Amino acid sequence: MKNIAVIGSGTMGNGIAHTFAQHRFNVSLVDINAGALDRALKTIAGNLDRQLKKGAMDEASKTATLNRITPITDMAAAVANADLVVEAATENREIKLILFKQLSEFCREDAVLATNTSSISITQIAAVTKTPGNVIGMHFMNPVPLMKLVEVIRGYATTDAVTQTVMALARQLEKEPVEVNDYPGFVANRILMPMINEAIYTLFEGVAGVTEIDTVMKSGMAHPMGPLQLADFIGLDVCLAILNVLYSGFGNPKYAPCPLLVNMVAAGHLGAKSGSGFYTYAPGSKDLIVSKKFI
Ligand code: NAD
Repeated sequence: MKNIAVIGSGTMGNGIAHTFAQHRFNVSLVDINAGALDRALKTIAGNLDRQLKKGAMDEASKTATLNRITPITDMAAAVANADLVVEAATENREIKLILFKQLSEFCREDAVLATNTSSISITQIAAVTKTPGNVIGMHFMNPVPLMKLVEVIRGYATTDAVTQTVMALARQLEKEPVEVNDYPGFVANRILMPMINEAIYTLFEGVAGVTEIDTVMKSGMAHPMGPLQLADFIGLDVCLAILNVLYSGFGNPKYAPCPLLVNMVAAGHLGAKSGSGFYTYAPGSKDLIVSKKFI
């Protein structure tokens, strides 16, 4: 594998492109939104600068990493010679089904088609392609350059060969791949999202405030980040989308998203990326300030 196409250049796409490029793969970074591509390149350059300051890389490697990433809005051209596509577009079933149908037309028949989806069925995505055996989940964690885990999700039709290729590839990226089967939320989000939802319910029902809930989980359970801060970091829209997949996939009311989360997303308070969620985020500030609504 040499040529990688990453589809979607948001929170996850820029981190995935960064990680592959740093490990000497050629990366085409695709987005429908040219502005998103500009922002992604700035984010990658900023993150590489941080690695440079920490002494984790030198100036030449930083330049070489950036030079291996080609931003592009023309997906057909970007994937034509890709050995692997990693799709990291918006967490929406319809968008992903349309994208994979297109990828199936544009890609080589032997290309591996991976999705970074947090919860949508790999088997359903694979079913719209001509090569379902080549479709697999490659679920990176946020922030991608730092987090070790890659959940490798086998769809119903995914072949052993493709699974082994993707497991080996993740190790080449110095990650720790874990193979799991394709059921709603896989493993990571099936366990994480009910905890985040319960934290939001705890706030919604007035059991405790934002700081108190996060402090209990940080100081009491040794979590590096409280569940409400983590929800802001992931994106409240992404959390809501995953909970809805769990809810409809299992038909179990225990996964029903908290009405407070639904309202916050409807109001455009999506967490760090929108400037406010449970906390407010001033540009350049690392202070954790509880949003006015919750004081
Ligand atoms: P995001 O909203 O930050 O970025 C999504 C990007 O996809 C946007 O730039 C958008 O313009 C682009 N896009 C939408 N439709 C497209 C199309 N048809 N072609 C090309 N680009 C398109 O989202 P994100 O948080 O980076 O999430 C991306 C994927 O990664 C989702 O499937 C999500 O569930 C998954 N994921 C997210 C996290 C997280 O912490 N945010 C963690 C693991 C996995």
